[in-house]
Amino acid sequence: MKKFVDLDVRGKTVVIRQDLNVPMKNGTITNDKRIRAALPTVKMALEKGAGVILISHLGRPVEGEYAEEFSLKPVAEHLGKALGMPVSVARELSEAKVQPGQCLILENIRFFKGEKKNDPELAQKLADLGDVYVMDAFGTAHRAQASTEGAVRRAKIACAGPLMVSEVEAFGRVLNAPKRPLAAIIGGAKVSTKLGVLNNLLEKVDILIVGGGIANTFLAAMGHSVGTSLYEPDLLEEARKIMQKAKDKGCKLPLPVDVVTAKELASGQKSTEVAVEQVPADAMILDIGSKTEALYADILKDAKTVVWNGPMGAFETEPFHKGTVALATDLANGQAFVVVGGGDSVACVEKYALADKMGYISTGGGASLELLEGKELPAIAALEARS
Ligand code: ADP
Ligand code: MG
Repeated sequence: MKKFVDLDVRGKTVVIRQDLNVPMKNGTITNDKRIRAALPTVKMALEKGAGVILISHLGRPVEGEYAEEFSLKPVAEHLGKALGMPVSVARELSEAKVQPGQCLILENIRFFKGEKKNDPELAQKLADLGDVYVMDAFGTAHRAQASTEGAVRRAKIACAGPLMVSEVEAFGRVLNAPKRPLAAIIGGAKVSTKLGVLNNLLEKVDILIVGGGIANTFLAAMGHSVGTSLYEPDLLEEARKIMQKAKDKGCKLPLPVDVVTAKELASGQKSTEVAVEQVPADAMILDIGSKTEALYADILKDAKTVVWNGPMGAFETEPFHKGTVALATDLANGQAFVVVGGGDSVACVEKYALADKMGYISTGGGASLELLEGKELPAIAALEARS
């Protein structure tokens, strides 16, 4: 991929596709993480002497229709404060014009008809807004849309922004010739959403750790009673196949030996730690137990590279956070290069202030899952084609 950092753009207009899709409540931004992640790229472009036009989507408006609640105006204001300069909003493509040193945001790209279906005409117009098109929205790289893929194909010069480069490099360290042993930790709610990931990673990893609802399905596949736990009865056969494949390949796939159970998933519940053979019929598994924590830590201690997606339990509700936090703490203090992806896993690592100690925290949930599934992401393929 051609990299924005290497380009001379003095006096030029740079168009940057970013992911500024921040959560909002009544017009107020409730978490500005994505704006903070995007900021270094904007600053880089301004410091290089360019004029900057930003493009992003926000929420899910009806395509082609303006709706105040999905306007990027609050984002522009927030960015303006962070940059210490006014950031205006262009409602129409024809208003998206800047001088060097200025920064402007095009209104929510989903207000423009043709974004979702990657309309060539819209893509060309976006590409023509500037001299260079920078794709920096990793979180949207798995969607072939006008602003993510089409414009990259059509711009005079297209390149990857620094955030995109960091993401691709971090996952590259996991997926291409990683330092071994390589471990994957796959937790979270459902096997069904991560079947592709499990199967693809099995081809690559030396260790596969499972947790959460996913581990419950594996335990049920082994014939354990899982009470009222979240698990997927339709996927028992798939789980057995995965275990067999791991065995054939010599990949370690330990299962929990003990679990934390409760009658309900609610805070302040009485929780009981039991062996996996002893889950009561009227209780649900909500976390891994302390013996499992120790077992997982021991298996992971020699790993040189780890990719982690999905919590070990229902960590949002205490006391069911303990297994996930213990694992995260071990990883944070360990030697391995750890990449964390997945919305909830990242939220957990951030909640317990462990993010800074990880190797890389991905900004793209869906996009990172597709990378781990071994899929080619349309925007990345387009960037590679333009290198
Ligand atoms: P990620 O966003 O990191 O990819 P997922 O979305 O797959 O992760 O799963 C996260 C969700 O799974 C969390 O909301 C968590 O509470 C839930 N979860 C994990 N383990 C359990 C469990 N044993 N029972 C019920 N829910 C669980
Ligand atoms: Mg999630």
